[in-house]
Amino acid sequence: MHTNCPKCGLKFEREPGFFIGAMYVNYAFSVAIIVAVGIALSVFNIYNLHTFVLSVVGLILLLLPFLFRYSRILFLYLFGGVDYQPRD
Ligand SMILES: [Zn+2]
Repeated sequence: MHTNCPKCGLKFEREPGFFIGAMYVNYAFSVAIIVAVGIALSVFNIYNLHTFVLSVVGLILLLLPFLFRYSRILFLYLFGGVDYQPRD
């Protein structure tokens, strides 16, 4: 991850340790994935504990790069005082 925006030079880490809070956003994403997998397995009537745990772990590992980045992006937008203002 860049320390500064390559376009406008914005420093992403607003204060030291700022992105520790992104952990909670990541946690929310993970819970959403766990619930979604549970519902999907129930709907398709293939729910059992092994399938559930393996699919949740597999899916979270697969999505880890996205979860990492999007939790930081969301946290930056929510609590970083950053507003996207495109220049024409
Ligand atoms: Zn920028």
